Amino acid sequence: MKIVYIAHPIAGDVENNITKILEIIERINVMEPDVVPFAPYLGDVMALNDNDPEMRKRGLKNDHELIDRGFIDECWVYGDRISEGMRDEIFMFNDWGKEVVLKNKTRFMEEELDRVDSEYNKYLIEIEKEETVNRLLKDNEEDEKCPECLKPTIYEELSTFNGFCEDCSTNNQ
Ligand SMILES: [Zn+2]
Repeated sequence: MKIVYIAHPIAGDVENNITKILEIIERINVMEPDVVPFAPYLGDVMALNDNDPEMRKRGLKNDHELIDRGFIDECWVYGDRISEGMRDEIFMFNDWGKEVVLKNKTRFMEEELDRVDSEYNKYLIEIEKEETVNRLLKDNEEDEKCPECLKPTIYEELSTFNGFCEDCSTNNQ
């Protein structure tokens, strides 16, 4: 069977959104014998107050932990908008290389998913930039050496011992 994550807006009209999600789960169970509808946030949304930022944060933490285990096969996107929370979920499924399927195929939702995709691409570029900077910093660090014994020495050590490695600095005293 295929495990499918149900991405749907929650905030705003919480009660109504819960009802819609339950209907989606029912429909999948009736219509799709080989699909496991998975909406793990539903319990927390019903048990915790979604309008309380701390509770909401806690619920998201649970939800993200489950997505991050990588066992969910696909993400199906429902609703009439892509909320911030859904955006984060889609990012995580993209990270896992999982398929994200738009189930409410309105023109607006197609534009919404395009928007999220381009945000994701920007995010990837940012990550790549960060990695490049870190690599350059690391390379520079590895290039540093003690001017006395020419032993490779990290910048931190050189700056602590007046431009020499700890050994040379101690021997010079
Ligand atoms: Zn030295």
